[in-house]
Formats: sequence, C-alpha cells, structure tokens
Amino acid sequence: MNESGVNKERLELALEAAGLDLWENNLVTGEVTRKVTKIFAELGYSEDEAVSYVDAIFKIVHPDDVPNIKAAVHDHVTGRSAQYRCEFRIRAKDGRWVWFANYGKIMDRDQAESGQRFIGVTFNIDDRKRRESELAAANRKLTRQNELLEKMNLMLQSLSTTDPLTGIANRRRIMDMGVSEAQRAVRLGHPLSLLVVDIDLFKQVNDTWGHPIGDRVICAVADACVRSVRRDVDIVGRIGGEEFALILPETSENQAYQLAERLCASVAALPIAACDNLVLSVTVSIGVATLSSSCTSFRDLLIRADRALYGAKDSGRNCVYLLPA
Ligand code: GH3
Ligand code: MG
Ligand code: MG
Repeated sequence: MNESGVNKERLELALEAAGLDLWENNLVTGEVTRKVTKIFAELGYSEDEAVSYVDAIFKIVHPDDVPNIKAAVHDHVTGRSAQYRCEFRIRAKDGRWVWFANYGKIMDRDQAESGQRFIGVTFNIDDRKRRESELAAANRKLTRQNELLEKMNLMLQSLSTTDPLTGIANRRRIMDMGVSEAQRAVRLGHPLSLLVVDIDLFKQVNDTWGHPIGDRVICAVADACVRSVRRDVDIVGRIGGEEFALILPETSENQAYQLAERLCASVAALPIAACDNLVLSVTVSIGVATLSSSCTSFRDLLIRADRALYGAKDSGRNCVYLLPA
C-alpha cells in the first residue's frame, strides 16, 4: 500500500473511533462530493436516499434548525467565522428527530472559486442533547419548586406574626417589634410611645350577643386602631382577647396622649354593624406610656402602659390615662 493509501486508512480508523462521518461539499455547484453514508444508514435511509445536493438536506432537517445551519455556513463563507459549526436535528426514516453536530472548513479559501472544497464531519449528539433538555426540565421544575417554597415561607412567616381574627400583628410580633423599636429609640435618643387599648366591659357584649358578635366588635375596634395611626410607621397589634397595643415611634408623650384621646372618642362614636338590624357601640380605655430616663425598655413601657390602663379603668373607663412622672 502506498503512503496515501496508508494515510487514508489511518484517517478512516480515526474517524470511526471518534464516531465522525466525513463529508465534502462543493458550494459552487451545490454538489455533495462525499456523502455521510454512516449517518444516513444510522437514520434508516438507503444509500440511494442519501442526499446528493447540499440543498436537499434541508428537506429532512428540522425547520427550526434550518436558519441556524444557513447562518453558520454564511458566517464561515464570508470569513466571519474561522470554522463552520452548528447543531441541528435530522428526521430519521421512522420520523424520529435525531440531534447532530457539524464541524467544517472551506479548504480552498485562497483560490478563485473558493467553496469548491467545503469539508467537515458530522457526529451524533443526541444523547448529550437529551441529557441537556432533561437537565433544563429538571432545573425549571426546581426553580418552580423553589418559588413555591419561598411563597410558602412568606405565607408561614406572615401567619406566624398575624392575628388570625383581625389580620393585624399578633402578640409575638408586637413583642419583637417593640423590643427592636425601643432599642433603636434609646440608641438614637428619639421618643417612643406605647398605647394599650382595652375594650370596656367586653364580657357583657359576649354574654349578651354571643361570641361571634363579640368577634365582630373586636375586629371593628382593631380597624379603628389601624385607622388612627400612621401607615408604615406605627405598629398595631392584638396582644390579648380584647386588648390592643399601638407602638408609636418618634412620638412624644403629649402626641401619644392626644392620639389616644382621638382614638377613644372615635371608638365611642363608632356604629358597629354586628349583624342584620343590630348596630352596637363600645368604648375603650387606653393606657399611655413613653420612654424616659426611668422607662428605658419595651418591657418597662408595657408595664407602665398596663398600669396606666388600670388607671383608666379605675377612672370610670372610656378614657385615657397617663401615670404621673
Ligand atoms: P373591663 O372593662 O374591665 O376590661 O371588662 P371586660 O369585660 O372587658 O374584661 P374581662 O377581662 O373580664 O373580659 C374580657 C372578655 O373577652 C372575656 C373573654 O371571654 C373575652 N374574649 C377574649 N378573647 C375573645 C375572643 O377572641 N373573642 C371574643 N368574642 N371574646 C373574647
Ligand atoms: Mg376589657
Ligand atoms: Mg382585657
């Protein structure tokens, strides 16, 4: 065997071992001068059915991939890319779509009729593509699950800090926010006040009208508390059965007292539509406390506001009370 015969043999062996099928096209005449016989056989086509003209291949390429092949060839022909590379699907005889990759080069660039020897290899990448798409699907699923988990976490967090009856903050959140707001106020030397609001003689409401109507009254008073404060600044929560706390950052004792008086008057004037043909009214008593040199924590504030609340109850209810300094 002569030298070129040996080289040909070596090349065939290397192509075979690497799973590559060699092709050669003449871009000037459009002829396929060496066909990818192995691939056509693999796809179930007879030797006669293997395409003889470059354009004929597009009949069995997936329509979505045709523009990619054309663009990749164009980029290489015009010199924009040093090699021609692209990935595409070919329809097998039985209708399956199988992924392949092409890698090629124009070998006679410096000649007048460049493109007469466009040589390349085609190889099957179906397994890799399938794994990629399975991975992408798994990733999409994971992303959806993560989003769901994040939403559920947010819901859980909100549930754990919200009073289910009124929708306002629960006792736990008031305690947490109270501690951090008091620490911040002390650190910055800013004022902070707390109101503790308790519905007067609420037991009678329950005893007279029943628990469900009592619940509606609690909700109506919670709404009145929310309406009386600054949104996004003050924090309103339910800290007991018919007891509420209003944390008022940047609010002096005097301002807090005035706010409490307005709230007390507005609850007393509030018609509460408890059910059909039943409009009730209730009053509240309010204890006021403000951070000072002798009241330096949220715990101190709560104790002081609670004691002030007792003062309001002792003073006949439907009023605001502030402990003397
Ligand atoms: P005071 O003016 O001294 O505060 O009198 P009061 O009747 O409001 O005080 P008391 O603490 O004796 O009564 C509070 C009542 O609140 C007793 C309890 O049955 C009722 N209660 C507590 N939680 C709920 C609730 O979630 N719904 C309803 N409807 N009632 C509740
Ligand atoms: Mg009460
Ligand atoms: Mg009470």
